[in-house]
Amino acid sequence: MQLIIFGSPGVGKGTLSDMLAEKYKIPHISTGDIFRSEIKSGNSELIQYVEKGLLVPDMVVNKVVEKSLKQESCKNGFILDGYPRTTDQAEFLENALWKLKKSISLVLNLVASEDEIIKRLTARRSCGRCGALYNLVTMKPKKKGMCDKCQSALVMRKDDEPETVKKRIQVYQNETSPLIEYYKKKKMLVDVDASPKPKEVFNAVVKVIESNIKKE
Ligand SMILES: [Zn+2]
Repeated sequence: MQLIIFGSPGVGKGTLSDMLAEKYKIPHISTGDIFRSEIKSGNSELIQYVEKGLLVPDMVVNKVVEKSLKQESCKNGFILDGYPRTTDQAEFLENALWKLKKSISLVLNLVASEDEIIKRLTARRSCGRCGALYNLVTMKPKKKGMCDKCQSALVMRKDDEPETVKKRIQVYQNETSPLIEYYKKKKMLVDVDASPKPKEVFNAVVKVIESNIKKE
């Protein structure tokens, strides 16, 4: 089962991917994670772009993703998060999978209103000292404004301030809308309402998966 997950920042993509990975025993492949591990292991082609703060070209991204999809752990499938980001990448992916005698089974598009996303992201706090994460709605610290682990002050990341969140959503939408169209045309895309609680979204997604993917 080869899944792609789309969803704007704060929509709960990471959480859902991890839950699905556990249920279906397939890896959650986040391009952010692959990049970090490639950089750690000294991928010089990738490092030269990242160090200069340049956008990594499609060709380099494609190569890194293809390498990780070929790994033994992806034999029974994977959940791809953060890739493809362009229709060129989507076409490359199709071809790379075809070479592996595979194809994308389903594309899940997590959807929530801008208000809901802003509400969620602006509730995030992190410890200024040890980096522990909190959420004023779902994971409150024991003492207001203070880290449970090291008693330091909690701060809001610049990224999570309402104005920045709005911009992040806009950037995401501009970037992804051609891809949403691409997969819609191929009738591979299913919209999923991501506004309920993670467990409910997960249950809905499992239903979508089981009714859309034929059992092998
Ligand atoms: Zn702390």
